[in-house]
Amino acid sequence: MTLEAAEANAIEIPGYSGRGVSVKAGTRVRITDIEGAQIADLFALVQSDPAEHLCAARTRLTCGRLFPVVGQQFVTDKYRPILTFISDQSPGVHDSLYATCDPGLHEALGGGASHANCHDNYLTATKTVGLETAWVPAPINLFQSTPVHPDGSLGAEKAPTKPGDNVVLQAEMDLYLIVTACSVDEIDINGGISTPIRLEILEDKGQDQTCHS
Ligand SMILES: [Zn+2]
Repeated sequence: MTLEAAEANAIEIPGYSGRGVSVKAGTRVRITDIEGAQIADLFALVQSDPAEHLCAARTRLTCGRLFPVVGQQFVTDKYRPILTFISDQSPGVHDSLYATCDPGLHEALGGGASHANCHDNYLTATKTVGLETAWVPAPINLFQSTPVHPDGSLGAEKAPTKPGDNVVLQAEMDLYLIVTACSVDEIDINGGISTPIRLEILEDKGQDQTCHS
């Protein structure tokens, strides 16, 4: 199997929705903003104990930054590496401070409590990988621009991504990866409309080594 053949394993996540996939340790995934200016909320849960999850707060603590850069790792609530940041073909701006959008936020923004939202889309996506949970972890908001001002106030800018911008992450343990195409359209952070995100399973190191031996 070539890497190109493996790349056939792609999922398009429509705007205003989310998807979950099972990913083996060593596998790389590419997350692409297809049309540009679209935030992708990223979550990861450990398969052997899904209560252990990618933790935004401990990732900030471990990296010493607001969000990891290429070469750094995302960690769980037990400080175990769960994802490694392999490449960043985007403006390199991500967010780990803001919660997922949810009915309360959309109501406050004027979209109404029944508006599509990342909170509910996360819960729906977890069911598709066989999990039952009512709890939503804090996400990593790929491509979201959240400037932190000297007075401590936070901005909420339009995502600076162009069509095709992407990141590649490597799973460091068997995990469930959940990605939602953020539903906020009442303000400009997604360009005023939620558009698709592509999730591609690129590579399994074990398979690759076997095929080339
Ligand atoms: Zn959202």
